[in-house]
Amino acid sequence: MPDELLERLRKFRTEYFPAHRQEFTSLIQNGQTPKTLFLGCSDSRIVPYLLTGTGPGDLFILRNVGAIVPPYNGSYGIHGTAAGIEFAVMQLKVSRIVVCGHSHCGAVRSAYEGVPKEAINLNAWLELIDEALLPVCQTPEALRRVEQRSVILQLERLMEYPMVRSQVENKQLTLHGWYYVIEEGEVQVFDVTEGKFIPAHYADNCGTGPYADDHFDGDPKHVE
Ligand SMILES: [Zn+2]
Repeated sequence: MPDELLERLRKFRTEYFPAHRQEFTSLIQNGQTPKTLFLGCSDSRIVPYLLTGTGPGDLFILRNVGAIVPPYNGSYGIHGTAAGIEFAVMQLKVSRIVVCGHSHCGAVRSAYEGVPKEAINLNAWLELIDEALLPVCQTPEALRRVEQRSVILQLERLMEYPMVRSQVENKQLTLHGWYYVIEEGEVQVFDVTEGKFIPAHYADNCGTGPYADDHFDGDPKHVE
């Protein structure tokens, strides 16, 4: 029985790579200089390169269950996401961080419904969404609001990272909250001054740019 995944590996080598060899060679010789840290949910339906029309060398990507930013001081040096944020900001010196949540997020649903108690890591991880949960029934609308509130919560946690906060305050870094509505093919971007998500189709920037706005003078408004 053919191994489909193995076949895809071979196909990449024989079909895609030859057409892009120079691009990869350049990225090796010159090193990577991605401008954006994309921090998204691990959900298989989110394909960052498709959403942003990017390719090799463009995005530094961190993904985890729920697109969660762990508390800065809560991981005791063993959390990959926290380490990745530090790497992206301090080593790669990215100029943007995108936190991308999405509709129908299994992490948010699981935060309400629970997961097997044997999943000790997952249980502890999902508690990091608790602050975003609403004490209401799990209607599609409530879940959507929680999914969006979680994106804002992660942006707030990012600001607890000293190297993030200082670079944001120095206007070398902007934070962007995105909410991908899978069924509509639309990314909504969080406008921190409006306190709401706006379809990218209508937005005049790709979101939360006001973190670098001269008039922005405090923490982001919460999504109600
Ligand atoms: Zn998700």
